[in-house]
Amino acid sequence: MKIVVKVGTSTLAHKTGNLNIRHVEELTKVLSDLKNAGHEIVLVSSGAIGMGVAKLSLSNKPTDIPTKQAAAAVGQCELMYVYDKLFSEYNHTVAQILLTGSDFSNEERHKNFENTMKRLLELGALPVINENDTVSTDEIKVGDNDTLSSLVAVSVKADLLVLLSDIDGLFTGDPRKDKNAKLITEVRGITDEIRALAGKEGSELGTGGMITKLNAAKICNDNGCDMIIANGSNPSVLYDIVEGKQAVYTRFFA
Ligand code: GLU
Repeated sequence: MKIVVKVGTSTLAHKTGNLNIRHVEELTKVLSDLKNAGHEIVLVSSGAIGMGVAKLSLSNKPTDIPTKQAAAAVGQCELMYVYDKLFSEYNHTVAQILLTGSDFSNEERHKNFENTMKRLLELGALPVINENDTVSTDEIKVGDNDTLSSLVAVSVKADLLVLLSDIDGLFTGDPRKDKNAKLITEVRGITDEIRALAGKEGSELGTGGMITKLNAAKICNDNGCDMIIANGSNPSVLYDIVEGKQAVYTRFFA
């Protein structure tokens, strides 16, 4: 299977912005194992701004663009350093790709991206993708990595996109506030009723929330790709997903 896995800042970093070592170590281990089993893996990773904030000892998430972009430049290095180190332990080679909206809207750049991805996967590398936050502006940026990962999944013709977040999936209500909220395991079609279930907030250091995840599901599903939302605090859920086992996650069917 060709699987795009998106991991959010809330999984990769603690609230301090510092690396969540347990989550990242487990994630790289499971992804390496899935690659060893013959699956093609593409990782879309957030966390650049969050980690940059921590590394530069900024007191909270910056709101002005130059500081955000500076934080991303610092954090992206840290992120790739960590992935390179951890995936190397399992003998896998990472490749960094930074994209922004115009890389999808410009036909030639998009074609180049597709060709490079194809070649990287043929060469057995593990592409790690993020938005090119240091140069992207409001006019050209994709804006959030849920959407970015859905565009990537469609571009590489993935079988599946998995969004690893700080929530188990889509619920009938907000499980942080409503203890009767139930996990919806299967969604067929992003209807108005489904959209109405999305709350507004995302995490402190990340960008998305349920709305961007449903938009991502729509992009994937419309292009023949299934999407799953699962909890990144337990990366071994990826084994269940790949083996088609029922577990705690929401699957959005194409
Ligand atoms: N590109 C941003 C970062 O790496 C994350 C965007 C998002 O959280 O969706 O910090």
